[in-house]
Amino acid sequence: AFDLLVVGGGPAGASAAIYAARKGIRTGVVADRFGGQVLDTVGIENFISVKATEGPKLVGSLEEHVRDYDVDIITNQKASKVIAAEQVGDLIEVELESGAKLKSRSLVLATGARWREMNVPGEQEYRGAGVAYCPHCDGPLFKGKKVAVIGGGNSGIEAAIDLAGIVEHVTVLEFDSKLRADDVLQRKAQSMDNIDIITEALTTKVLGDGERVTGLNYTDRSTGESKSIELAGIFVQIGLVPNTEFLKGDVELTPRGEIITSAQGETSIPGVFAAGDVTDSPYKQIIIAMGSGATASLGAFDYLIRTPVA
Ligand code: FAD
Repeated sequence: AFDLLVVGGGPAGASAAIYAARKGIRTGVVADRFGGQVLDTVGIENFISVKATEGPKLVGSLEEHVRDYDVDIITNQKASKVIAAEQVGDLIEVELESGAKLKSRSLVLATGARWREMNVPGEQEYRGAGVAYCPHCDGPLFKGKKVAVIGGGNSGIEAAIDLAGIVEHVTVLEFDSKLRADDVLQRKAQSMDNIDIITEALTTKVLGDGERVTGLNYTDRSTGESKSIELAGIFVQIGLVPNTEFLKGDVELTPRGEIITSAQGETSIPGVFAAGDVTDSPYKQIIIAMGSGATASLGAFDYLIRTPVA
């Protein structure tokens, strides 16, 4: 059994593992995909002390740093359930989708988040063939073409401003009657002459020619009318979903499904801590995930030295 098992191998999990291993305790990491969202990121320019890097390069350094310590790294495995100890101090169990079980005296949950999908016909069919979620990664593929951004929150408007510099034209479709993005972003978007913003628009279908996206249908919610736009790309920016489905009913979550954590990273289960994008932390960034991974790991170490083995 482990003293501390980290579930998730993104920046939060990597940081938690290093902090634990440096305490000399038996440390493991179980992750579906080591690197997490950083693997899908191209340019990173806000990882303080590194002026500019790329996602896969940063993941390489993260893995090298973790492997420098005595940490068991188990990848291509998904956790499917966390079972609390019968009494505090007993071993906590993590069930994997493969059917295997791992046991540990403490856990750090760092399973991150993923893009929210529209759930409309055509979205899955044309994913990667015009339907995109990452403007930083896929924006340049639509150079000189027309695209839509779905969602008028901060990420949607940021994406529109970013894309407007690369593509021919951007249409933003917002479901609500007004944008939710910060005023400064809205003003910037409105000042750009190749961005149009349509509010009260419910996207209903992704259109394609069998190979690539050719447009989309939406309902104008103010009139009920169905409308169509011709496009080469659709960037879906309607939020992040925390990867906590496997914790429902066992660990206390916010209504949005984020793990509720204390300042020490504690969750509602004694000995189970959490860090990074999967938690109710207000900002989701690499440096923040790493900081909270360190916090959760130190919190878990404090728990271990204060809790007698049952
Ligand atoms: P994640 O990176 O999401 O990692 C989660 C880990 O958990 C992965 O290893 C995953 O495989 C694993 N996992 C999930 N479910 C399970 C399960 N059930 N069992 C086992 N393992 C599981 N931040 C910045 O600071 N700067 C940027 O420039 C930047 N650009 C970004 C660009 C894009 C396209 C995206 C998507 C994000 C960007 N971010 C950026 C945000 C940043 O990537 C995240 O805040 C950060 O990766 C969160 O780290 P995390 O460790 O909490 O989660």
